[in-house]
Amino acid sequence: MTEGYIKFHCNWENEEIHFPEELFLSLEKERSILYKLGLIGMYPDGIGFGNISVRTNGGSFLITGSATGQFPTLNQSHYSMVSESSFGDNSITCKGLTKASAESLTHAAIYRAIPEVGAVVHVHCLWLWEKLLNHYPTTSGEIEYGTPEMALAVQSLAAEMGMSDENIIIMGGHREGILAFGKNLKEATTQIIEIYNRYQND
Ligand SMILES: [Zn+2]
Repeated sequence: MTEGYIKFHCNWENEEIHFPEELFLSLEKERSILYKLGLIGMYPDGIGFGNISVRTNGGSFLITGSATGQFPTLNQSHYSMVSESSFGDNSITCKGLTKASAESLTHAAIYRAIPEVGAVVHVHCLWLWEKLLNHYPTTSGEIEYGTPEMALAVQSLAAEMGMSDENIIIMGGHREGILAFGKNLKEATTQIIEIYNRYQND
């Protein structure tokens, strides 16, 4: 990260959270589809990538925690509840046995921009990213991952887009980074799967 940026800060309450089993199972179902395609996973250097979230109420959302990308399946302790986010301070407030990553800010940005959005999916895929870059709504290549600028850029892009048939944002300055959103988890995941299948043999 470039010097001069405000460092990401996570106000983490390390405490067990409980959420409905039904919600957990639907998160796991969609996540496993993305995991099998390698859209969520881990790089050879051990760094995990990709996360999915679902809005619980208002500005709060449940998100897969940091460093969980390598696991084929998760349990409830791998999820984190984000209750607050501040782009200006580059900070979030979360609770759970796993803390939420800096990428939670990008999820927060979409929830803020479009009240109808119920779920956000963030995946990494180099070939798809290269194909979609600047063909789909794309944030500036100058704006880096994990910065307040990225959250603000995603927020304004999403607000401009609103809900449509294709709710996809390409993170120009976050190589491989793609975001999709929808009214619910299934819809958000389907956005990615459809575009993945369409461009795969292109
Ligand atoms: Zn990412």
